This record gives sequence, structure tokens and C-alpha cells, in this order.
Amino acid sequence: MDVKEITAVNNRVLDVDLTSGEISVIQVSEEDRRLYLGGKGLALKLVFDRIKPEVDPLGPENLLAVMSGPAAGTPAPAGGRFCVVSKSPLTGIFASSFVGGRFGLSLKKAGFDGILVRGKAPKPVMICVDDGEAVIEEAGENWGMDTYEFQEKNKARGDWLAAGPAGENLVRYAVLLSGRRVAGRCGMGAVMGSKNLKGISAKGSAKIRPADPVLFKKAVQVAQKKVKAHEITGKRLRELGTPQNVNTYGTTAIMPVRNYSRASFEKREEICAETLRDRHFLKNHGCVGCPIQCSRTGNFNGQELVSPEYETICLMGSNLLIGDLVKIAGFNDRLNRLGMDTISCGNTLGFAMELTEKGLLDSGLSFGDAEAVDAILDDIAFRRGLGNDLAEGVRSMARKYGGEDFAIHVKGLEMAAYDPRGCVGQGLGYATANAGASHLSGSTHAVEVESYLNAHDNKGKAEFVQFMQDLTDAVNSAIFCIQTEYPFLEQNPIYQYTPKPVLSFFMQTFPGLAVGTTDLSDYCNLLAGLFGRKIKRRQFYEIGERIFNLERLMNVREGVSKKDDTLPKRILNEVREDNAPPIQLEVMLAKYYRLRGWDKEGKPGKKVLKRLGIQA
Ligand code: SF4
Repeated sequence: MDVKEITAVNNRVLDVDLTSGEISVIQVSEEDRRLYLGGKGLALKLVFDRIKPEVDPLGPENLLAVMSGPAAGTPAPAGGRFCVVSKSPLTGIFASSFVGGRFGLSLKKAGFDGILVRGKAPKPVMICVDDGEAVIEEAGENWGMDTYEFQEKNKARGDWLAAGPAGENLVRYAVLLSGRRVAGRCGMGAVMGSKNLKGISAKGSAKIRPADPVLFKKAVQVAQKKVKAHEITGKRLRELGTPQNVNTYGTTAIMPVRNYSRASFEKREEICAETLRDRHFLKNHGCVGCPIQCSRTGNFNGQELVSPEYETICLMGSNLLIGDLVKIAGFNDRLNRLGMDTISCGNTLGFAMELTEKGLLDSGLSFGDAEAVDAILDDIAFRRGLGNDLAEGVRSMARKYGGEDFAIHVKGLEMAAYDPRGCVGQGLGYATANAGASHLSGSTHAVEVESYLNAHDNKGKAEFVQFMQDLTDAVNSAIFCIQTEYPFLEQNPIYQYTPKPVLSFFMQTFPGLAVGTTDLSDYCNLLAGLFGRKIKRRQFYEIGERIFNLERLMNVREGVSKKDDTLPKRILNEVREDNAPPIQLEVMLAKYYRLRGWDKEGKPGKKVLKRLGIQA
């Protein structure tokens, strides 16, 4: 096959059966491409068409789908990320995880938009893809290596997507790394480990061109200008990265503190972005092909390490009452090497600390004790002693030791670092996100904390949660980084020239109209250039709505219903020192179901499925 020049979508997906060793190619149909776009949507559809309900997430019948997006390898801003979709061993339902390492781009340049892995190899192996060809090789001594060491040793094979020891040992929140970038949530590393697969490499030499280069160039110029001009993507993310949220959310009772029991952290300034920049910053880095480069490395006690992101600073810091950036950066480095999610791990440790404090567990862990945390990370990854229980996550720990009142998870996924008592729409988002308490499934915390919507009441929340969830699924299928939602939605005349109180009044009073008229032209224009056909606003939005509903349907097949669309008891029932009013989840939820066209049990109705072209 000649892979010297390919269009933005190749419609070829590698299909690797590790049980039989067979390798073939799936041809993606034009219909699926039109309805599901790429990235998350297409990965989910591939899985839906091939997986039976109720398979064991760690069994050979589970599928691991990795998919790049149409924008990868082109100058579209922040378009180089890729996604991993599977049934999660942490939650038992479907999930997606996104990452911006070079693997997705290299796979595409090798002639494949994605790869579907099924079965289980008889002994540890690696899959190596090189310009249109793929082989399965024994992993040998690579099995057991940490993610950094493994990728460095095997870099001649190309760019990697790799599991660490945590994935090999089936830690339910194990991650996958591509370079130093992490597909962090829902245990994709454990799925890879369960297949006896250490990693997948890709090397490719094709050039990727958009279908309509003239149209695409014009769209890219407009989009890049907006990315540069927006305060967040053009300045703050580059200068402060995601830790910019520490001060914003630490002063609005959103940052998690002491296993989500407090509204503020006295050492917040010790762990904020400004301190990180002033004491530790070395250089920016980030995802392939992104002009923003929102991540950074820093000098921590003489070592150059990847700087922790906002989520890690909170979950491994304020949530454990650890106010020391050097310690947090050390945890981050260790967790990345072992291949474990910092959000789930921090939540699980916070829960274990509170269990211990209340006499329900004898762990030696206590709030503020960084040394004890340091000592237990390897035990979790290798499932030694108490580490074996901690490797199962919060929901499983609560089943064994009790403490349901303060177990912070939704549908088994530990909560990201936005306490909904400070932004109630985010609570509805967590309760209804397909993956569980994920911040990457259409978050509203930003519009709430920016006061476009009142953070503490229900007005407009159902409409905006639905809109952000559907939009984000479309964006995650294109794939553009979700940070592009700031410039593409806000860097336009309406946002720039309308006084904020007027905008806020409009959004809260006419939320349906506000979401229905939000400018999505940059996404549509970029995709039109990539595909060489016009994509209307309604079509683009509907793709997201279709993907969200398909995933819901897949989860309903696994037993998910209204009983699961809830929040942790602590979040619903406990009032913190800021005296924020309780979240009226039921009220928001009823409206949300109506808007979605779901029945009272949260099942997508026939009418909505028919409109979206989903075959149940
Ligand atoms: S903004 Fe950050 S997370 Fe998004 S693509 Fe760029 S570097 Fe990656």
C-alpha cells in the first residue's frame, strides 16, 4: 500500500486479535464516518457493533479501541490528540480517555485511523505498526518496566501507547502513556494489561492533507487567530497551565479539600499556579501539534519533572491536606511511571485516610502525611498488602470497609477536582456523564464560576449540561482539544461586545435559545476543509448528541438507570463551612431527562433514537 500521501481520514482501522494472532483491517463505512465523525464517536461505534453486553472488562471479550481524529496531522489548532475507548474495569460501563502524545499521529501516518484490540495474548506481547504493516512481538523483559523506561528503551520502534506496572497488575484505575502524555481515566491501562499487552508502537511516513486545502487554510487562519486572541488559550494556559484553576476554584469552594469535606485549604497559595511558575517553571510542553502547549516541566529539588496539572495538585494535594508542590510533583512522576490515574488514586487515598480516622480501617495513612503516601504508591501498583484493596478504587473500598457517606464517586468513577457544591450544574454533569464523575464530558464549571450562570441555582443548568455534553462529544470526535471551546465559542462579536450582565441574563432566562444560537462555525469550517464537504451547525451538534445517546444506550444495556444518575451522599447531604445551599439534583435531573427525550428511568426513548439514527 502506498502511504505517501493520505487524506485527513483514511477509513482504515487495524483489527488485532491477540488470542489468535490474526491481524486484519476494518474498512470504516462512509455512513459511520458521516454519523460518528472519528475519534470517540467512531471508536464507540466500532465497539458497540462488536461487543456483547455484560462482558468482563478484564476478560478477553472486552475491546480496546484507539482512534485518532480527522484533524490529527494537520495545522488545525490543538487537533493532534487521540482517544481510547473500552468498557472500564473501574466502573463496569463504557468510557473514553484522551491523550495528546505522538502515537495517534504516527498511527495515522502509518495508514490507520485507529486500532481495535481484542482477545488476550498467551504471554506478554507488544504490537508494532510500521508504515502499513503490523506485527505482534513478545514483550520479554519489557514486561514490568515503568512507562518512561519502556518507551525510552524501545523508541526506535516509533511512538508508543504503553501501560506501566499498574496496568500489568490490573489496577482498576491504571492509565496509558504516550510519551509523557496520559490517557488518564477509567482504567484503560488495566484493559491493556488484561490482554497481556505492554504497548503499541507506530511509525509512519505519510503526509496528511485536507480534502479541500483552500477552504481548510482559511478556516485554520481564523481559528488560530482566535486561539491566540483569547485570554485563556492565548495567555493564561501558556503562562500558568491548568493549575491556574487552583486560585480560581480554591477561592470559590470548588477545589476539593480533605476528602471533599472542606470548602477551603489554608495552604492553597503554596500549591497555586503562580507559586509553581515562580519557584519551579522550566519550560512549556504539551500535545503534538498544539500551539497552546499548556503543560510544563519544572525543577523540583534539582530534578526536571513534568509539572502536576490542576487535577493532580488537588487530588494528591489539597484533598490529602498536602500543601507541598515538591511532594506533589514527586507523586505525579511516580504515578506516571507506574501508570496510575492521579485523580482516582488521590480520591482513594483520601477515602482511606478518612476510613482510618474513623476507625474503619487500619492503614497508617493520615491527612497531611506525605511520607505515608509516598510509601504506598508502589504497593498499589504491585497490589501488595493494603495496596491490593486500594487498587480497586473508592467504590470497592466502601463495599469492603464501609464509609458510603463519604465515598466520593459517581458510577464507580472517582470525582474530578470540581466540588459541585460550588457549581451545581457541574453536579448534574457528573451525575449524568456516561463515564461517571468525569470533568471531560461537558463541564459547566467554567460558565458557572465566570458567573454567566449562577453557580448556586438551577436556572439554565439542564440546558447547558446537555449542550456541553453533546458539544464535547462532537469536539472529542473531531478531535480538537476541549480547550478550544473557549476561543471558538467566546471569541466572537456577541461575547466580546455584549456586557456580561446582559449575556448572563440572556443565558439564564432563555437557556434553550442561548445554547441553540452558540457559534460553532469554527468547528464546522475546519471540518468542512478536512472532509471537503459542508458541515452545518446542526449536523455537527447532532453528531455529539448521537454519540452521547449511543453511549447511554450501551450503559443502559449494562444496567445503568436513574438510580445511578446521582451524586455522593457527602456532596448531596453535607453542608461545609461556606454554608452553600444544597444541590437540587432531582429537579435538574427531571428537566434534563425531558430535554434529552429519555423516559423517567433515564432510558433514551424510541423517538430520539430514531431521529439520531441509532439502532437499539
Ligand atoms: S491545550 Fe494543552 S491539553 Fe489541549 S491540546 Fe494543547 S497542550 Fe494538549
